[in-house]
Amino acid sequence: MKYQALKKKAFFATAVLTGTVMLFPVGCPAAAEKDIQNYTDTDFAMDTVVSETLYTTGDDINSKLTSILTDVETNLLSWTNESSQIYKVNADCGNDTEISEELSGYLERILAIAKDSNGAFDPTIGELIRLWDIGGENQRIPGKDEIQEALKDSGYKKVSLDGNMVHMDKGCSLDLGAAGKGIGCDSILEYLKTQKEVSAALMNLGGSSVMTYGSKPDGSSWNVAVTDPRAENEDDYLGVVALNGTEFLSTSGDYEKYFIENGVRYHHIMDPSTGYPAESGVTGVTVVCDTGLEADALSTACFVLGVEKGAQLLKAYGADGLFVDEDHHVYLTEGMKERFSLIADSYSVEDIAE
Ligand code: ADP
Ligand code: MG
Repeated sequence: MKYQALKKKAFFATAVLTGTVMLFPVGCPAAAEKDIQNYTDTDFAMDTVVSETLYTTGDDINSKLTSILTDVETNLLSWTNESSQIYKVNADCGNDTEISEELSGYLERILAIAKDSNGAFDPTIGELIRLWDIGGENQRIPGKDEIQEALKDSGYKKVSLDGNMVHMDKGCSLDLGAAGKGIGCDSILEYLKTQKEVSAALMNLGGSSVMTYGSKPDGSSWNVAVTDPRAENEDDYLGVVALNGTEFLSTSGDYEKYFIENGVRYHHIMDPSTGYPAESGVTGVTVVCDTGLEADALSTACFVLGVEKGAQLLKAYGADGLFVDEDHHVYLTEGMKERFSLIADSYSVEDIAE
């Protein structure tokens, strides 16, 4: 594959390539291929631009896919919408609250990642996030006292789950923002599995969470371009990651929401142990695995943990990852080596220290 050529070619606005790497043989009979239509759409949900690509012999259901994301946000995850389950759990902190089986399943996996990452990923730091308000209208560097105050009531150990009952200590609140887009992707996948006409699909939520499903009519893999964290132009890519059907990719980076003050970059991924933006030396982390929630939460966790500890966490989850640091090094886990191709020639690929 010639990446130079790809780089010049107009990428989809979504940075997802319909690349030419052949991962599986072409298996569809020619007649069936003819009937498959390709529908693309760009929409807005979960606070982000959503790009959809659908291969189907049936109707264009892209707007239905967007509505699934909106439902997940409104009914399950929203921190501000009174009808969401998370809103109710937060309003009821200090007591036991019954939640749906779906949400308790997600919460169980989220708490496991919080524990396995030693709290680097923590779904209870909403107050801290709002205090900094990075990317928002009131972004600022808070005082040390304010930070300590915001951290006082947080900590994933303050949340416990017993079947469909969740208990959270008084003062604590849940914010699943770092896994929300991944959960949205998982919900889309579940829906697509019930749609027999759909042979393949790709969802791209703001470039940071991507889901692939099925195989394209020509059998080629899905190629997702990863942003160069220090790119001067939006379409300068670090490289390309190949995904096969039913894989999820998630990226967390310090370039998505940030401000710079006195030469210091204050970005939106917090280290819950300090209350300040994480300083693990990495500028971006991309994770590939077979569920959206894990890809999303693990990429945030790995950003906080840095290369070595992050790679260990990924190993425990059977996930592949790439880490980028300030010195333009790219670190690849074993599995990622097989799927990543470097584009940016100012970067070099390095081994991860064991
Ligand atoms: P994005 O949502 O920008 O794609 P992430 O998935 O990494 O990126 O999520 C970042 C968001 O998660 C932040 O904006 C903030 O709301 C929340 N967050 C920040 N730090 C953490 C953390 N250590 N653990 C859990 N959530 C976090
Ligand atoms: Mg995330």
